[in-house]
Amino acid sequence: MQHLKNLRFVMQKSGRLAEGTIALLQKCGYGVKINKRQLLLQEKSGIDFLFTRDDDIPGFLAKNICDLGVFGENLLTEYSLTHKDDAHNLQVIMPLGFSKCRLSIAAPETHTYPTAQTLQNKIIATSYPQTLAHFLKQNNVTAEIVTMHGSVELAPKIGIADLICDLVSSGVTLKENGLVEVMKIADSQAVLVANKTALHTEKHSLIENMLLRINGVLDAKQNKYIMLHVQKDKIEAVKKILPSREAPTILELQGIPNKVAIHTVSPEEIFWETIEKLKEIGASSILVLPIEKMMA
Ligand code: ATP
Ligand code: ZN
Repeated sequence: MQHLKNLRFVMQKSGRLAEGTIALLQKCGYGVKINKRQLLLQEKSGIDFLFTRDDDIPGFLAKNICDLGVFGENLLTEYSLTHKDDAHNLQVIMPLGFSKCRLSIAAPETHTYPTAQTLQNKIIATSYPQTLAHFLKQNNVTAEIVTMHGSVELAPKIGIADLICDLVSSGVTLKENGLVEVMKIADSQAVLVANKTALHTEKHSLIENMLLRINGVLDAKQNKYIMLHVQKDKIEAVKKILPSREAPTILELQGIPNKVAIHTVSPEEIFWETIEKLKEIGASSILVLPIEKMMA
Protein backbone atom coordinates (compact mmCIF):
# COMPACT_ATOMS: atom_id res chain seq x y z
CA MET A 1 0.00 0.00 0.00
CA GLN A 2 1.42 3.34 -1.11
CA HIS A 3 1.83 5.66 1.84
CA LEU A 4 1.36 9.29 0.85
CA LYS A 5 3.17 12.18 2.54
CA ASN A 6 -0.04 14.05 3.28
CA LEU A 7 -1.75 13.40 6.58
CA ARG A 8 -4.89 11.34 6.01
CA PHE A 9 -7.85 12.04 8.24
CA VAL A 10 -10.88 9.75 7.95
CA MET A 11 -14.39 10.63 9.11
CA GLN A 12 -18.02 9.62 8.65
CA LYS A 13 -19.56 10.78 5.37
CA SER A 14 -22.97 11.54 6.82
CA GLY A 15 -24.74 10.59 10.01
CA ARG A 16 -24.54 11.16 13.72
CA LEU A 17 -20.76 11.54 13.84
CA ALA A 18 -20.31 13.60 10.67
CA GLU A 19 -21.91 16.78 11.95
CA GLY A 20 -19.86 16.98 15.17
CA THR A 21 -16.64 16.10 13.36
CA ILE A 22 -17.18 18.77 10.69
CA ALA A 23 -18.00 21.39 13.34
CA LEU A 24 -14.81 20.53 15.24
CA LEU A 25 -12.62 20.63 12.11
CA GLN A 26 -14.10 23.95 11.00
CA LYS A 27 -13.38 25.47 14.40
CA CYS A 28 -9.80 24.23 13.98
CA GLY A 29 -9.62 26.28 10.78
CA TYR A 30 -9.84 23.43 8.22
CA GLY A 31 -11.98 24.06 5.14
CA VAL A 32 -14.16 20.92 5.32
CA LYS A 33 -17.90 21.00 4.76
CA ILE A 34 -20.76 18.51 4.41
CA ASN A 35 -20.87 17.27 0.85
CA LYS A 36 -22.45 13.86 0.45
CA ARG A 37 -20.93 13.21 -2.97
CA GLN A 38 -17.34 14.15 -2.20
CA LEU A 39 -15.32 11.25 -0.80
CA LEU A 40 -11.90 12.87 -0.67
CA LEU A 41 -10.97 16.46 0.02
CA GLN A 42 -7.41 17.69 -0.30
CA GLU A 43 -7.32 20.64 1.98
CA LYS A 44 -4.83 23.46 1.54
CA SER A 45 -3.15 22.69 4.87
CA GLY A 46 -1.70 19.44 3.45
CA ILE A 47 -4.29 17.15 4.99
CA ASP A 48 -6.43 14.73 2.97
CA PHE A 49 -9.90 14.26 4.44
CA LEU A 50 -11.57 10.95 3.56
CA PHE A 51 -15.32 10.45 3.99
CA THR A 52 -16.65 6.90 4.54
CA ARG A 53 -19.19 4.86 6.45
CA ASP A 54 -18.19 4.87 10.10
CA ASP A 55 -17.89 1.06 10.06
CA ASP A 56 -14.86 1.27 7.74
CA ILE A 57 -12.95 3.80 9.83
CA PRO A 58 -11.31 1.49 12.43
CA GLY A 59 -10.06 -0.79 9.63
CA PHE A 60 -8.69 2.12 7.57
CA LEU A 61 -6.70 3.29 10.59
CA ALA A 62 -5.53 -0.14 11.72
CA LYS A 63 -4.32 -1.07 8.23
CA ASN A 64 -2.28 2.15 7.73
CA ILE A 65 -4.59 3.53 5.04
CA CYS A 66 -5.33 6.57 7.20
CA ASP A 67 -3.47 8.25 10.05
CA LEU A 68 -6.16 9.91 12.16
CA GLY A 69 -9.91 9.49 12.39
CA VAL A 70 -13.08 9.93 14.40
CA PHE A 71 -15.62 7.28 15.32
CA GLY A 72 -17.70 6.08 18.28
CA GLU A 73 -16.29 4.22 21.29
CA ASN A 74 -19.01 1.62 20.71
CA LEU A 75 -17.46 0.78 17.34
CA LEU A 76 -13.97 0.67 18.84
CA THR A 77 -15.11 -1.95 21.36
CA GLU A 78 -16.75 -4.06 18.67
CA TYR A 79 -13.75 -3.77 16.34
CA SER A 80 -11.28 -4.63 19.10
CA LEU A 81 -13.22 -7.81 19.89
CA THR A 82 -13.48 -8.93 16.25
CA HIS A 83 -10.04 -7.84 14.97
CA LYS A 84 -7.78 -8.39 17.98
CA ASP A 85 -4.49 -8.25 16.03
CA ASP A 86 -5.30 -5.19 13.92
CA ALA A 87 -6.72 -3.32 16.91
CA HIS A 88 -3.21 -3.13 18.39
CA ASN A 89 -2.44 -0.55 15.68
CA LEU A 90 -5.08 1.82 17.03
CA GLN A 91 -4.35 4.45 19.62
CA VAL A 92 -7.14 6.48 21.20
CA ILE A 93 -5.91 10.05 21.43
CA MET A 94 -8.85 11.65 23.23
CA PRO A 95 -12.61 11.64 23.70
CA LEU A 96 -14.26 14.51 21.81
CA GLY A 97 -17.42 15.10 23.84
CA PHE A 98 -20.00 14.72 21.05
CA SER A 99 -22.19 11.86 19.69
CA LYS A 100 -22.75 10.76 23.28
CA CYS A 101 -24.95 7.69 23.60
CA ARG A 102 -25.07 4.33 25.39
CA LEU A 103 -25.35 0.75 24.26
CA SER A 104 -28.33 -0.70 26.11
CA ILE A 105 -30.66 -3.67 26.20
CA ALA A 106 -34.25 -2.67 25.50
CA ALA A 107 -37.40 -4.72 25.89
CA PRO A 108 -41.04 -4.41 24.78
CA GLU A 109 -42.89 -2.13 27.24
CA THR A 110 -44.96 -5.03 28.53
CA HIS A 111 -41.93 -6.93 29.82
CA THR A 112 -39.47 -6.25 32.63
CA TYR A 113 -36.00 -7.70 32.59
CA PRO A 114 -34.38 -6.15 35.65
CA THR A 115 -31.13 -8.18 35.94
CA ALA A 116 -28.64 -9.67 33.50
CA GLN A 117 -29.67 -13.18 34.60
CA THR A 118 -33.22 -12.69 33.32
CA LEU A 119 -31.74 -12.46 29.80
CA GLN A 120 -31.02 -16.20 30.03
CA ASN A 121 -32.14 -18.11 26.91
CA LYS A 122 -33.66 -15.00 25.32
CA ILE A 123 -33.11 -13.98 21.69
CA ILE A 124 -31.45 -10.56 21.38
CA ALA A 125 -31.08 -8.58 18.14
CA THR A 126 -28.14 -6.18 17.77
CA SER A 127 -25.63 -4.54 15.41
CA TYR A 128 -22.92 -5.08 18.06
CA PRO A 129 -22.82 -8.89 18.45
CA GLN A 130 -19.29 -9.14 19.89
CA THR A 131 -19.84 -6.46 22.50
CA LEU A 132 -23.10 -8.10 23.53
CA ALA A 133 -21.56 -11.58 23.61
CA HIS A 134 -18.75 -10.26 25.81
CA PHE A 135 -21.26 -8.69 28.20
CA LEU A 136 -23.34 -11.88 28.40
CA LYS A 137 -20.25 -13.99 29.03
CA GLN A 138 -19.09 -11.70 31.83
CA ASN A 139 -22.50 -12.14 33.44
CA ASN A 140 -22.59 -15.93 32.90
CA VAL A 141 -25.68 -15.65 30.72
CA THR A 142 -26.45 -17.77 27.66
CA ALA A 143 -28.64 -16.06 25.09
CA GLU A 144 -29.04 -16.22 21.33
CA ILE A 145 -27.71 -13.23 19.41
CA VAL A 146 -29.24 -12.18 16.08
CA THR A 147 -27.09 -9.73 14.11
CA MET A 148 -28.88 -6.97 12.20
CA HIS A 149 -27.26 -4.04 10.36
CA GLY A 150 -30.13 -1.61 10.75
CA SER A 151 -33.74 -1.20 11.99
CA VAL A 152 -32.89 -3.24 15.08
CA GLU A 153 -35.85 -1.68 16.93
CA LEU A 154 -38.20 -3.62 14.66
CA ALA A 155 -36.93 -7.06 15.75
CA PRO A 156 -39.31 -7.72 18.69
CA LYS A 157 -42.32 -6.42 16.78
CA ILE A 158 -41.76 -8.73 13.82
CA GLY A 159 -40.88 -11.72 15.97
CA ILE A 160 -37.17 -11.98 15.18
CA ALA A 161 -36.08 -11.45 18.80
CA ASP A 162 -37.36 -10.98 22.37
CA LEU A 163 -35.09 -8.03 23.08
CA ILE A 164 -32.71 -5.67 21.36
CA CYS A 165 -29.28 -4.30 22.22
CA ASP A 166 -28.83 -0.92 20.55
CA LEU A 167 -27.54 2.64 20.87
CA VAL A 168 -29.75 5.03 22.83
CA SER A 169 -29.46 8.73 23.52
CA SER A 170 -32.82 10.35 24.22
CA GLY A 171 -34.84 7.11 24.12
CA VAL A 172 -37.38 8.61 21.70
CA THR A 173 -36.74 6.03 18.95
CA LEU A 174 -37.20 3.20 21.44
CA LYS A 175 -40.45 4.70 22.70
CA GLU A 176 -41.78 5.14 19.17
CA ASN A 177 -41.23 1.42 18.70
CA GLY A 178 -42.85 0.39 21.99
CA LEU A 179 -39.54 -0.42 23.70
CA VAL A 180 -38.00 0.57 27.04
CA GLU A 181 -34.35 0.64 28.04
CA VAL A 182 -33.78 -1.97 30.74
CA MET A 183 -30.00 -2.32 31.10
CA LYS A 184 -26.96 -0.26 30.10
CA ILE A 185 -23.98 -2.15 28.69
CA ALA A 186 -21.61 0.73 27.92
CA ASP A 187 -21.37 4.50 27.46
CA SER A 188 -20.04 5.91 24.20
CA GLN A 189 -18.93 9.16 22.60
CA ALA A 190 -16.89 10.17 19.58
CA VAL A 191 -13.16 9.54 20.00
CA LEU A 192 -10.13 10.72 18.05
CA VAL A 193 -8.06 7.68 17.10
CA ALA A 194 -4.62 7.46 15.47
CA ASN A 195 -2.74 4.78 13.62
CA LYS A 196 0.05 3.98 16.09
CA THR A 197 2.72 3.65 13.41
CA ALA A 198 1.90 7.06 11.92
CA LEU A 199 2.67 8.65 15.27
CA HIS A 200 6.30 7.59 14.79
CA THR A 201 6.79 8.50 11.11
CA GLU A 202 7.60 11.74 9.31
CA LYS A 203 3.90 12.58 9.69
CA HIS A 204 4.45 13.01 13.42
CA SER A 205 4.74 16.80 13.28
CA LEU A 206 1.65 17.17 11.05
CA ILE A 207 -0.27 15.10 13.59
CA GLU A 208 1.08 17.13 16.49
CA ASN A 209 0.00 20.34 14.77
CA MET A 210 -3.52 19.03 14.21
CA LEU A 211 -3.76 17.80 17.82
CA LEU A 212 -2.64 21.20 19.04
CA ARG A 213 -5.50 22.80 17.15
CA ILE A 214 -8.08 20.23 18.30
CA ASN A 215 -6.97 20.63 21.92
CA GLY A 216 -7.16 24.38 21.48
CA VAL A 217 -10.76 24.16 20.27
CA LEU A 218 -11.85 21.71 22.97
CA ASP A 219 -10.34 23.94 25.64
CA ALA A 220 -11.77 27.19 24.34
CA LYS A 221 -15.42 26.82 25.19
CA GLN A 222 -16.06 30.50 26.04
CA ASN A 223 -14.54 33.91 25.67
CA LYS A 224 -10.94 33.95 26.76
CA TYR A 225 -8.84 36.52 28.54
CA ILE A 226 -5.65 37.02 26.56
CA MET A 227 -2.42 38.61 27.78
CA LEU A 228 0.68 39.14 25.66
CA HIS A 229 3.82 41.22 25.23
CA VAL A 230 4.52 43.01 21.97
CA GLN A 231 6.63 45.82 20.44
CA LYS A 232 4.94 49.23 20.87
CA ASP A 233 4.84 49.77 17.10
CA LYS A 234 2.77 46.58 16.77
CA ILE A 235 -0.13 47.69 19.01
CA GLU A 236 -2.34 48.60 16.06
CA ALA A 237 -1.50 45.28 14.35
CA VAL A 238 -2.52 43.41 17.51
CA LYS A 239 -5.80 45.32 17.68
CA LYS A 240 -6.57 44.31 14.10
CA ILE A 241 -5.83 40.62 14.76
CA LEU A 242 -7.50 40.48 18.17
CA PRO A 243 -10.96 42.00 18.04
CA SER A 244 -11.68 42.88 21.67
CA ARG A 245 -15.13 42.87 23.24
CA GLU A 246 -14.45 46.50 24.20
CA ALA A 247 -11.03 48.15 24.09
CA PRO A 248 -7.80 46.38 25.07
CA THR A 249 -5.79 47.41 28.15
CA ILE A 250 -2.23 48.57 27.33
CA LEU A 251 0.34 48.39 30.15
CA GLU A 252 4.00 49.50 30.41
CA LEU A 253 6.58 46.79 31.03
CA GLN A 254 9.17 47.77 33.64
CA GLY A 255 12.67 47.79 32.20
CA ILE A 256 11.57 47.08 28.63
CA PRO A 257 10.77 50.49 27.14
CA ASN A 258 10.06 49.39 23.57
CA LYS A 259 7.45 46.78 24.57
CA VAL A 260 4.01 46.80 26.20
CA ALA A 261 1.65 44.21 27.69
CA ILE A 262 -1.80 43.96 26.14
CA HIS A 263 -4.75 42.44 28.02
CA THR A 264 -8.01 41.78 26.24
CA VAL A 265 -11.15 39.58 26.12
CA SER A 266 -11.66 37.74 22.86
CA PRO A 267 -14.33 35.37 21.54
CA GLU A 268 -13.42 31.70 20.96
CA GLU A 269 -14.27 31.43 17.23
CA ILE A 270 -11.17 33.28 16.16
CA PHE A 271 -9.03 31.83 18.91
CA TRP A 272 -6.67 29.51 17.05
CA GLU A 273 -6.03 31.67 14.00
CA THR A 274 -5.52 34.62 16.27
CA ILE A 275 -2.70 32.97 18.19
CA GLU A 276 -0.88 31.99 15.00
CA LYS A 277 -1.11 35.51 13.59
CA LEU A 278 0.03 37.07 16.88
CA LYS A 279 3.14 34.93 16.84
CA GLU A 280 3.83 36.03 13.27
CA ILE A 281 4.01 39.71 14.30
CA GLY A 282 6.38 38.90 17.16
CA ALA A 283 4.06 38.74 20.17
CA SER A 284 5.53 36.81 23.12
CA SER A 285 4.48 35.58 26.58
CA ILE A 286 1.00 34.88 25.19
CA LEU A 287 -1.30 33.71 27.98
CA VAL A 288 -4.86 32.59 27.37
CA LEU A 289 -7.02 32.33 30.48
CA PRO A 290 -10.56 30.97 30.89
CA ILE A 291 -13.15 33.41 32.18
CA GLU A 292 -15.33 32.04 34.93
CA LYS A 293 -18.05 34.69 34.79
CA MET A 294 -18.54 37.73 32.61
CA MET A 295 -21.05 40.61 32.64
CA ALA A 296 -21.18 42.48 29.38
P1 ATP B 1 -22.97 4.83 8.46
O1 ATP B 1 -23.69 5.04 7.20
O2 ATP B 1 -21.76 5.72 8.58
O3 ATP B 1 -22.62 3.38 8.71
P2 ATP B 1 -24.63 4.43 10.78
O4 ATP B 1 -25.74 3.67 10.17
O5 ATP B 1 -23.61 3.61 11.52
O6 ATP B 1 -23.94 5.33 9.65
P3 ATP B 1 -25.21 6.63 12.72
O7 ATP B 1 -26.56 6.68 13.32
O8 ATP B 1 -24.70 7.82 12.03
O9 ATP B 1 -25.36 5.39 11.76
O10 ATP B 1 -24.22 6.19 13.91
C1 ATP B 1 -22.86 6.41 13.86
C2 ATP B 1 -22.33 6.54 15.29
O11 ATP B 1 -22.95 7.65 15.95
C3 ATP B 1 -22.60 5.36 16.20
O12 ATP B 1 -21.66 4.33 16.04
C4 ATP B 1 -22.50 5.99 17.57
O13 ATP B 1 -21.16 6.16 17.98
C5 ATP B 1 -23.12 7.36 17.34
N1 ATP B 1 -24.57 7.33 17.64
C6 ATP B 1 -25.46 6.41 17.24
N2 ATP B 1 -26.69 6.65 17.73
C7 ATP B 1 -26.58 7.76 18.44
C8 ATP B 1 -27.51 8.55 19.16
N3 ATP B 1 -28.77 8.21 19.25
N4 ATP B 1 -27.06 9.66 19.73
C9 ATP B 1 -25.78 10.01 19.64
N5 ATP B 1 -24.85 9.31 18.98
C10 ATP B 1 -25.23 8.21 18.39
ZN1 ZN C 1 -22.27 2.51 10.54
